[in-house]
Amino acid sequence: MMQQYLSIKARYPGMLLFYRMGDFYELFHEDAERASRLLDITLTSRGQSAGSPIKMAGVPYHAADQYLAKLVRLGESVAICEQIGDPGTSKGPVERQVTRVITPGTLVDASLLDERQDNLLAAVALSPDRAGIAWIGFASGEFRVFEISRSRLAPELERLRPAELLMPDDSQELAIATAAQKSLAAWKFDPDRAQRVLCEHFGTRDLAGFGVEGLNLALGAAGALFEYCKSTQTQSLAHIRTIAREPSDQYVRLDAQTRRNLEISETLRGENAPTLFSLLDDCASSMGSRTLRRWLHHPLRDRTEIEARLEAVETLCHGGMPGGPATLRRHLAQCADVERIATRIALRSARPKELAALRETLHQLHSLRDPLDSFGSTRLQELGNQLEPRPQVLALLTRALRPEPGAVVREGGVIADGFDAELDELRAIQNDCGAFLLDLESRERQRSGIANLKVEYNRVHGFYIEVSRARSESVPADYRRRQTLKNAERYITPELKSFEDKALSAQDRALAREKYLYDVLLEDLTAEIPWFQQVARALAELDVLVCFARRAEALGLSRPTFSNLDEIIVEAGRHPVVEQQAGEFVPNDVRLGHRRKLLLVTGPNMGGKSTYMRQLALIALLAHCGSFVPAKRAQLGPLDAIFTRIGASDDLAGGRSTFMVEMTEAAEILHNATSRSLVLMDEVGRGTSTFDGLSLAWAIAVHLVEKNRAYTLFATHYFELIQLAQLHEDVANVHVHAVEHKDRIVFLHSVQEGPANQSYGIQVAQLAGIPVAAIRGAKRKLAELESRSAVAHQQGDLFAAPAPVAPRDALGEMLEGIDPDALSPREALEALYRLKKARD
Ligand code: ADP
Repeated sequence: MMQQYLSIKARYPGMLLFYRMGDFYELFHEDAERASRLLDITLTSRGQSAGSPIKMAGVPYHAADQYLAKLVRLGESVAICEQIGDPGTSKGPVERQVTRVITPGTLVDASLLDERQDNLLAAVALSPDRAGIAWIGFASGEFRVFEISRSRLAPELERLRPAELLMPDDSQELAIATAAQKSLAAWKFDPDRAQRVLCEHFGTRDLAGFGVEGLNLALGAAGALFEYCKSTQTQSLAHIRTIAREPSDQYVRLDAQTRRNLEISETLRGENAPTLFSLLDDCASSMGSRTLRRWLHHPLRDRTEIEARLEAVETLCHGGMPGGPATLRRHLAQCADVERIATRIALRSARPKELAALRETLHQLHSLRDPLDSFGSTRLQELGNQLEPRPQVLALLTRALRPEPGAVVREGGVIADGFDAELDELRAIQNDCGAFLLDLESRERQRSGIANLKVEYNRVHGFYIEVSRARSESVPADYRRRQTLKNAERYITPELKSFEDKALSAQDRALAREKYLYDVLLEDLTAEIPWFQQVARALAELDVLVCFARRAEALGLSRPTFSNLDEIIVEAGRHPVVEQQAGEFVPNDVRLGHRRKLLLVTGPNMGGKSTYMRQLALIALLAHCGSFVPAKRAQLGPLDAIFTRIGASDDLAGGRSTFMVEMTEAAEILHNATSRSLVLMDEVGRGTSTFDGLSLAWAIAVHLVEKNRAYTLFATHYFELIQLAQLHEDVANVHVHAVEHKDRIVFLHSVQEGPANQSYGIQVAQLAGIPVAAIRGAKRKLAELESRSAVAHQQGDLFAAPAPVAPRDALGEMLEGIDPDALSPREALEALYRLKKARD
């Protein structure tokens, strides 16, 4: 057995092998050690191999799913090896085979997947300066490729968050924490090989029709990825029907920190709520929830698409049908996860109950589709068209499946009566057994004239006709003796024999027939996979739009507008998540644009600076997802990216201190932000000496406003920065308002023009419970420092701007007196000479 184990194990290196033995899956050697550590199961040993005991750990077969789910969450892959021979008849170890390979990125089992989250598998191929990425949503069948510069690789992977990431074995491991990374032989990433593999699968001569020509790196990755998926499945991947190029500038860019800082679907502490997603997710179906999550992480730049969504949401809210969204939601709630069921149909692993749920969903299509037309929104009508029912598919499912089919095909009770004559007959034999025997008995009594003749059955001897010894002489000639008892003889007739054969095997045959019919049904449904996928997408999108409409009403959101001007205008904006927690939320305005590119946000800790900055980012994000936004009015110019540098944490694992993390993130922003990017900077320059920090904060702010020209909110405690507003016409000051009341601070949370007049640090510390004596000491020290810094200031301005304003000298005075518009060319030339002379 160990030989068999080792030869199978050799074929699945890098994976745990679950080796079926009776009611357990056993793991051996290193696998056993690893599994016992990861799953917290007992490590035992058994027998000996090469002089040392064989380590072993096992999980019960019936509870395997929960262990598998845990392993896959930890990024492990598992090959499941079943007994396929008959233990009763085989010599030596029972024949075994790996029947399933489970990897984090190729999951389809309902029990192992998080139904509200996409599960992606990605592959990356690298050249010195470019990266090719391919990804597959294995459970949905989506297949995409694109290429980017290498520096964009990390943020793109962060956007996709694959569960599993494949790379050629000649490249270094990437610093992506989310994915389980696997190295594959580099030749598997060969673009020519990929062309061949993919063309063969799609049945095309080349890939020209897919618009992915020339993306050699990405195609190489796609080929490796596709072959990897294939190797984990025993079925063809019929649900992967096309490959497409993902346009690189399709989305508003969000880098890893920004996704984290904005708490889109995960809080900073790594919890699921409260987040933007948890607040908005009112979807009726898991397909809807997955799509919503995807939308929130992929804000669009394409205005047409955004407006189409917004218009649909608006119509759902205000147009047409009162109570419309609630009605639609009720129907959507009846819908099954068509997307994943379609995939399981392709892989032949769909369960009867899933097909029954699919049938129920197809029933709902009419009720969903008909009202969509009446709303009068283009997008809703389009979705309605995609939900056009196909009566023949519904009819097939209705005819083929019982109303409440059994859980597993192997136990029967799945295929409906009347669907297949042979199955009906086999079932009839089982059901009609009693009637047939009674009928036979009376016929045989008549034929033989033996009144006490009986037709009976026992498990050992099967069916027989029993006749008392006294009458045994008069049995008909075709009776064959089966058994002799003391007082009776038992016979069998050709008719009874053939009935017996039929009856005894009828059950087995009925089960086999059901299995066959079920397979044929799956086969027939495979042809409809493209349609199922279309229906799934439309249902999911409709679900999100209905969710947006309902949340817009519940949370008091309004429709944002877009312009082509250099501006971001928000009136009475709110932070949608904080608003739920704060007793009374104070709405605030933001105005950014040409001549007002950077706002310095000052004010005390706890005053609401971070909230103010984040709410702007969330409003912009939601608007670009096609959702209504928490503001009275929001008008946005074109936006290409949102960057944030908020909060600070040590990246101890990565060996970087808080300050280093902060500066790395700031560097990335300074390199990448454009005049169409929104940048949030919170407290840059802490974690080093005050002067260092201040100088850096200053220089970063100036860079952002002069070089990047990005829309920036810059929160700071360095009061010295306030001067920037005087030195730079595109910088303005705003502050969160707070007042001191009886030596205590009261936060008003309203944002007003102009700088804060003090930082109230000591008052906030007092609120936090710093002992009175320490507070008093701090106040004294502050007074001392302030008087000293007043002296220092007189000695010269340490932080004069990099481009200092010209001192008011003679030259300045002369310039002041010149009005260029009023000069003739000659006068202008003279003025120039005069100025030059004055300087010399
Ligand atoms: P800061 O960044 O200035 O230290 P925060 O933005 O973290 O302050 O806000 C501190 C707390 O104040 C928040 O947790 C929230 O409860 C409350 N808060 C912030 N902004 C508002 C607001 N506009 N209305 C009501 N409460 C607010």
